[in-house]
Amino acid sequence: MKPQEALSSASPTHGSSKEALWESLQRAIRSRMKPEQFETWFRRAALASVDGETVRIAVQNSFSRDWLRTYYGEVLAESVREVLHDSRRVEVTVDPELLLQASTLAVQIQLQNQGPQSQSQIAPALQPAPPAAASPSLAREARALGSSRPAETSRGLLATSDVGLNPKYTFDNFVVGPCNRFAHAAALGSAEAPGQAYNPFFLHGSVGLGKTHLLQSLCWAILDRNPRARILFLSCETFVNHFINSLENGDIAKFRNKYRNVDVLVVDDIHLLTNKDRTQEEFFHTFNTLYQSGKQIVLSSDSPPKDIPSLQERLVSRFKWGLVTEIEPPCFETRMAILKRKSRERGREFSDDIASLLAERIDSNIRELEGAVTKLLGFAGVSGLPISADLAREALRELFHARRGQPSMEDILTIVTEHFGVKLSDLQSKKRTHAIAYPRQVAMFLARQITRHSLEEIGGFFGGRDHSTVIYAVDKIQGLHEQDATTRALLDGFLGRLQAPRG
Ligand code: ADP
Ligand code: MG
Repeated sequence: MKPQEALSSASPTHGSSKEALWESLQRAIRSRMKPEQFETWFRRAALASVDGETVRIAVQNSFSRDWLRTYYGEVLAESVREVLHDSRRVEVTVDPELLLQASTLAVQIQLQNQGPQSQSQIAPALQPAPPAAASPSLAREARALGSSRPAETSRGLLATSDVGLNPKYTFDNFVVGPCNRFAHAAALGSAEAPGQAYNPFFLHGSVGLGKTHLLQSLCWAILDRNPRARILFLSCETFVNHFINSLENGDIAKFRNKYRNVDVLVVDDIHLLTNKDRTQEEFFHTFNTLYQSGKQIVLSSDSPPKDIPSLQERLVSRFKWGLVTEIEPPCFETRMAILKRKSRERGREFSDDIASLLAERIDSNIRELEGAVTKLLGFAGVSGLPISADLAREALRELFHARRGQPSMEDILTIVTEHFGVKLSDLQSKKRTHAIAYPRQVAMFLARQITRHSLEEIGGFFGGRDHSTVIYAVDKIQGLHEQDATTRALLDGFLGRLQAPRG
């Protein structure tokens, strides 16, 4: 049905029901935003009441209410005008019942897809959230003490987590801009009602854009509200390793049990499940078990579920059940804000001039912005000079004098073919002997690190290989870079040469 038709059929002058009016309003609202925004903020909302003066829209928690009031007031007013042909006021209120309905619905969908389950498995999702513990400040205190306290790990994250929470990775320390506002809001929303609002919460975006930071902020926020929450935070790699070990040791039951006792499971970089069929199978069961008991699942990935190579379709569809959100590269203003914030945190805030000088030159990744802050401050500290544009040019020479733009694919191929003594045509051939495959993988890794080519484009340079092959190569070489000093020296040498100032 077109909006126009919906509009007239729902008009009160035609005496239609509240449901029909809500449907038309939703349609009008939906036409004014991206689908994922609608999914997040309006799919679970409801029309509470309508009278001659006011339209009341109910949402499931105060966080959503405030968000709608701040960012969607105009959209709501316009939608009401479009549908009702007058300018009634729009009010947003909280109806906690909605939360319950949302989880009931999710469980019902789950049950339809899964076949019959026992009541006992459904029950936990329907129970109200546990009351916040007596002292929400406990978690904050723990954070203030820093991360070097093993006891805190057991109070906050479960000890079997593979990392501790970084005290700096909080919502407070996260600079919000247009690129990440939505991801930030969604993470906040998930933390407000774990297991209920958005389950799973799936965050995707390129490397260095703040996924891990947001995931950890979410954990801190959950712990702030409930210091007894049992959170298991794992890198995907650790999940895979645990699983493989438990298969080898024959204690798969123990492995499975571990996951039944958590309130929140966070798996960072879930795209690394690619090509790991057995582990995907196991993760599927882990997912189901947790989901059915109303436990929160939080995942991050470098791409949206459907683009993770060789991810089983049933996992793709489950990952999309909750909320899928992208975090985008920061725009200029956000880069400025991050540079100023990070330099302030380190005790010497950059002036606007210095911040904009750097923000113009570093435009991809927040980790690089941090690196530049560290380098420039270090340089200023050692030299005792004030932070000026000249000093920045000196300290960050490679940013200023490097050839404009990124090193090209040709540069990478030249370095790799020369070093390994292989021919370009070999790299592009179907040959898979180690002598050819290894340099090819190294070249793919370098291309991923320092060019902006997509995975598909990189695959294209090497005889039309597909993007899963590129991901595999990049992961493998990345692993060697981390584990093997000789490989690291070699790769860093390549990277240095490719990024060095020229001419
Ligand atoms: P990812 O997991 O996406 O690769 P990280 O979360 O590790 O990225 O972020 C890289 C670095 O950049 C971290 O030190 C993080 O604190 C910082 N960072 C990322 N986004 C922001 C932001 N919006 N505000 C402040 N710091 C950020
Ligand atoms: Mg990360």
